[in-house]
Amino acid sequence: MTTGRHDLHCHLDGSVRPDTIADLAREQGVTLDRPVADLVVAPPHCGSLARYLTYLDLPLQVLQTPEALRRAARELVEDWHADGVVHGEARFAPQLHGRQGMTLDEAVTAVADGLADGRAATGVRTALLLCCLRHQSPEESLAVAETAVRRRDVVSGLDLAGDERAYPGTPHRPAFDLAHRAGLPCTVHAGEAAGASSVWEALDVLGARRIGHGARSAEDPALLERLRRDRITLEMCPISNVQTGAAPSLAAHPATRLLASGLAVTIGTDARTTSATTLEREFAALRVASGWTVAQERAVQENAAAGAFGVHMS
Ligand SMILES: [Zn+2]
Repeated sequence: MTTGRHDLHCHLDGSVRPDTIADLAREQGVTLDRPVADLVVAPPHCGSLARYLTYLDLPLQVLQTPEALRRAARELVEDWHADGVVHGEARFAPQLHGRQGMTLDEAVTAVADGLADGRAATGVRTALLLCCLRHQSPEESLAVAETAVRRRDVVSGLDLAGDERAYPGTPHRPAFDLAHRAGLPCTVHAGEAAGASSVWEALDVLGARRIGHGARSAEDPALLERLRRDRITLEMCPISNVQTGAAPSLAAHPATRLLASGLAVTIGTDARTTSATTLEREFAALRVASGWTVAQERAVQENAAAGAFGVHMS
């Protein structure tokens, strides 16, 4: 079986082209105190997820209009196409785009329209996931989940993102319960900034079918057995994981070992601009650092195809 590339873990706000951010800033009268790349591309070692997330401040600042969101989404699909991606899943937190009054629905519509523009131009299949955020209130997460369920016409899943070390996932359970009742599949960022216990929480409390990163799952053999038994998809993003400190180095990234032990490892980009990456770069890095072969790349693509959430074609 041959499978094209799949990018299951990709944040829209972290994947806006730097040139586009500069354009949008100029159009919006936002002046920058440093060159745009210095503001939106994180260094190779940030030391923490919290520091890495600060590189999203400027993209978020300029993505406060439907036009800007639509453009960013369309360009992301074009960038996937150039990267050999046949199926891309974009995720974003619509509640972060209301500074000028955009509603959750308007933000979702803008991104969905941009993805549709990109699909029409490239033929890449796309899906859209909405992110609840750990530092926000359960009520805010519930509003995101309600939007996701209401917009099932264009939304394929629910996610929980944000600062994992400082904020547990359990308070957001009502949002995930709502998604489950509606049959909307869920993924949760876990085992990135915090250890294996956060992955257990994502599985048992939030009902995640996929785990964002899960890099630190390897600390717990019982957890690995659970992940294997339930075929939980691990959305690993090696370059980002090294930047945030979730993995000590590319050579020591757990993807190689977890794939070899039969887990459903996939490779995503996380944030194509913040991490200055593409799937081509991720696989090249794994080839150099960990000796990955075509067979390993094919295996993770087959895992990704099996773990993909719903696709919108029209
Ligand atoms: Zn992520």
